[in-house]
Amino acid sequence: MAFENLTERLSKAMKNLTGRGRINDEDLQATMREIRLALLEADVNYTTVKKFVNNVRQKAKGADIMSGLNAAQQIVKIVNDELTATMGEEAVPLNKSDKIPTVIMMAGLQGAGKTTTVAKLAYKLKREDHARPLLIAADVYRPAAIDQLEILGRDLEIPVFSMGTDVDPREIVKAGLAKAAQDKNDYVFIDTAGRLQIDQTLMQELKDIEVIAHPDEILLTVDAMTGQNATETAQGFADALDITGVVLTKLDGDTRGGAALSIRDVTGKPIKFVGQGEKPTDLDVFYPDRMASRILG
Ligand code: GDP
Repeated sequence: MAFENLTERLSKAMKNLTGRGRINDEDLQATMREIRLALLEADVNYTTVKKFVNNVRQKAKGADIMSGLNAAQQIVKIVNDELTATMGEEAVPLNKSDKIPTVIMMAGLQGAGKTTTVAKLAYKLKREDHARPLLIAADVYRPAAIDQLEILGRDLEIPVFSMGTDVDPREIVKAGLAKAAQDKNDYVFIDTAGRLQIDQTLMQELKDIEVIAHPDEILLTVDAMTGQNATETAQGFADALDITGVVLTKLDGDTRGGAALSIRDVTGKPIKFVGQGEKPTDLDVFYPDRMASRILG
C-alpha cells in the first residue's frame, strides 16, 4: 500500500498533538521535527521538506491558533492543506487540441512504464470519451516494446502503427501522423524510446520528435518506486523537453511516497495521472487533495 510508512508516522505525530488540548511552542516544535523526519524518510526532496515544514510552522504561528482549544485540529488541517498545495492543489486535465488529432508524446526511462501507460491512457479515453486513438510504436531500440504495444492494442481493440525496428523513429512518427490524418483519429500517442539513464542521443531523438510532431502534451512517465531518483529524472527530462505533465507509475508498489510529494514542487510540472497496477484499467487522474487525505490516513 502506497505511503504506509508516511501515513503511520504522520498520524502518530498528529495523535500526540490532538491528545493534548492546548498546545505550546514546544509541542509545535516537536511535531514539526516529527513531520520533517517522516517526510525525509519517505524520500521527499530535501528542499521540498524544508519549504513544507517552514510553511506549516508559519501558518500555525501566523494564524494565532496556538492559544485556541482546537489548535491541534487546526494544525492537522494546515498539514493537510500544505500536502495538497505541495502536490499542485488542483487536478490538471490532459491538454486537448482544437482540431484533431490531439498528439500525446510519451517520454521516460526504460522500464518506467511508458508503453503500459500509453495503452492505459488510450483505453481510458476510448472507454470514457469514445475516442479513436492511434498508437505509434516508435521505440525501436527495445524490440519487445513494439510487440508489447501491438499485443496491448489488439487486446484493447486500439490500432497500432509500427514499421518494425529498422526504421528511424523520426520517419515512423511522420508516417504514423500521416496515417492518423488519413484515418481521422482524434488522439495519437507516440511511444518513444527510453534508456537506462538520460543521455544526449536519447534527448536529441526526443527533441527531434517534438519538432516533427508538435505534441499538445508531452507526458513523462516516472517510476514512483525509485523515490528521489524519480524526482531527479523528472527534472532532467524537464530541462531538455517541454514536459507538460507527469504520469507517476507503480504507486501501488511505492511504500514511501517521496516522488508524489516532490515532483510538482521540484519541477513545476503537474502530475496528471497515477499508475496503480499492471492492468489496463489501473490508471487514475491525480487529485492532490484526495492524495493528501490518503497520506494523512
Ligand atoms: P517502458 O520501458 O517505459 O515502456 O515500461 P513498460 O511499460 O514496459 O513497463 C515496465 C514494467 O512495469 C512492466 O512490467 C509493467 O507491467 C510495469 N508497470 C507499469 N506501470 C505499472 C504500475 O502502475 N504498477 C505496477 N505494479 N506495474 C507497472
